[in-house]
Amino acid sequence: MNQTVRNIIIFAVSMVILGAILATASLDSTKRTDIATLAGEVQKGNVASLVIRGNEVEATYKDGSKTKAEKEPGDSLPTVFKNYGVDAERMRVIPTEIKEASGFSYWVSLLAPTILPLILLVAIMWFFLRQVQGQNNKALSFGQNAGHEISKDAKDKVTFKDVAGVKEAKHELMEIVEFLKTPEKFAAFGAKIPKGVLLMGAPGTGKTLLAKAIAGEADVPFFFMSGSEFVEMFVGVGASRVRDLFARAKKNAPCIIFIDEIDAVGRQRGSGLGGSHDEREQTLNQILVEMDGFEPNAGVIMIAATNRPDVLDPALLRPGRFDRRIVLDPPDIDDREAILKIHAKHKPLAKNVSLRKVAERTPGFSGADLMNLMNESAILAVRRSKASITEDELLESIEKVMLGPERRGRVMNEEERRTTAYHEVGHALVAHLLPHTDPVQKVSIISRGRAAGYTIKTPTEDRHMRKREEYLEDLAVLLGGYAAEQIIFNDITTGASSDMKGATQIAKDMVTQWGMSSALGPRVYGEREDMIFLGRNIHENRDYSEKIAEKIDTEIDHLISQGLETAKRLITENREAMERVAAALLEKETMERDAFLEAIQIPDANLGNRPKK
Ligand code: ADP
Ligand code: MG
Ligand code: ZN
Repeated sequence: MNQTVRNIIIFAVSMVILGAILATASLDSTKRTDIATLAGEVQKGNVASLVIRGNEVEATYKDGSKTKAEKEPGDSLPTVFKNYGVDAERMRVIPTEIKEASGFSYWVSLLAPTILPLILLVAIMWFFLRQVQGQNNKALSFGQNAGHEISKDAKDKVTFKDVAGVKEAKHELMEIVEFLKTPEKFAAFGAKIPKGVLLMGAPGTGKTLLAKAIAGEADVPFFFMSGSEFVEMFVGVGASRVRDLFARAKKNAPCIIFIDEIDAVGRQRGSGLGGSHDEREQTLNQILVEMDGFEPNAGVIMIAATNRPDVLDPALLRPGRFDRRIVLDPPDIDDREAILKIHAKHKPLAKNVSLRKVAERTPGFSGADLMNLMNESAILAVRRSKASITEDELLESIEKVMLGPERRGRVMNEEERRTTAYHEVGHALVAHLLPHTDPVQKVSIISRGRAAGYTIKTPTEDRHMRKREEYLEDLAVLLGGYAAEQIIFNDITTGASSDMKGATQIAKDMVTQWGMSSALGPRVYGEREDMIFLGRNIHENRDYSEKIAEKIDTEIDHLISQGLETAKRLITENREAMERVAAALLEKETMERDAFLEAIQIPDANLGNRPKK
């Protein structure tokens, strides 16, 4: 854009200069007057002779001085003078010479007023045309260079050992790697290798990383493109880029084409609301055409990644296309430790740091979160001028990644502090007293992110399936803060709002999605359908009657009030323990598990219920 502005300025300046040159060229030293004045002089008999050159009239006075004037074009000079009241007789006595209109200055003065704007106009048009063309050219050349290539000799190559966890996925992908290395072996047995592999997993589970690792392992070129890149271009470019990408890949076989975030182009057709919808469909169609176009054993393998497999067009998943689907699970505790180890490389860790302990405290963290955690702790260690990263930095970074940065700057008045303390102790107390909840790890009234305070509970193991009873207890814990505020202050603050949101969602899912309400039975109510609108689910198909809707509401109410009752009962029964913990929390602001246990003086109800490791 800067270039354009500069061009325009240069152009304008040169036009001005040119204009000035032309203007001076048409000027000569002869005095000028207007034709009416000249006519007056002629009538008075002061003019000795006249020379007419086109529309220019040069008069020589009787005293020898000269002057020039311009007559209106079209009429002859006698007619013009006659119009100005000069007698025909007077005209006739003055010797008049008619000269061929010629000379540079004459032509310039004649043409400049008409030609100059024209030149200007043409030039401007040319400039803009070139600009637009430039863009088109860019788009075109972009299309031709579709995708970024990581050649097989790239230095910072990723291999499987840079990817921790995701064992099943790695195992399955090993097969692909072997094929890319020795395609003959498979061909000899008539085995068909899948054309397309779809990596599915939550954001940050390492899909992109794993795809790069396949290329690294197999030692083949890797053509990389993100679904969102297709969508951003001009109409028609997406499809041509796909064509080019495949053409290049075929030339470079064996190789890998990786389309990251394929859901950006591969959403179900015919359900879009947005403007780029047609473009997206064309791109998707082109992908399908290309995938059908190459032979199964051509040595080109398509890998795509998505965290929204549910919205993909079924055509993409048909046999012969992305028929091999690989799920990347969120990391379990061992995986988390391994991922931490990978990202702790090149970082000075203190000797006594236990990454296992960090892994224990980070259930639900993705690989990307763990990488972020290691990075945050390194930054923290530098800021504290430590010689190495210690456990303090690591544990603090967990909270930072989980809840956002600490906001010590946010000043709470005494009343807010008290409310927050009781609210958090409410959560902690209920969690501590119920048998199936996760043990309380930390309670704090230092604000982080949007929360005024927080309570961290850490599961002792990774769980995949959960029971109804556990959800009921979760509801009670979530509402523990609300219950505490109600009991202690007989009032509610806005601090409980996100708790209530969470509780309502759990209760709703229990009733409508998980079949955990006996009144409604084992049925899913409300099919969730995806509509593309700001990328969010806005639509829920209601496939039940008004009567059922009422029942659902009653059940949700019932579950929530049941949870609230449990929380209130536990708090009332253990009021003294609550006061003790709240007092300690107000004093210390943050309590780790040990301090919490010391203050509450009640054994943890959780421990008897879990298999010890
Ligand atoms: P996705 O594509 O699934 O959203 P990425 O592959 O982009 O996730 O992961 C982001 C970063 O997180 C990676 O660059 C890597 O540093 C880290 N990461 C994620 N998963 C793993 C893993 N399993 N092992 C090691 N690092 C990981
Ligand atoms: Mg990714
Ligand atoms: Zn709360």
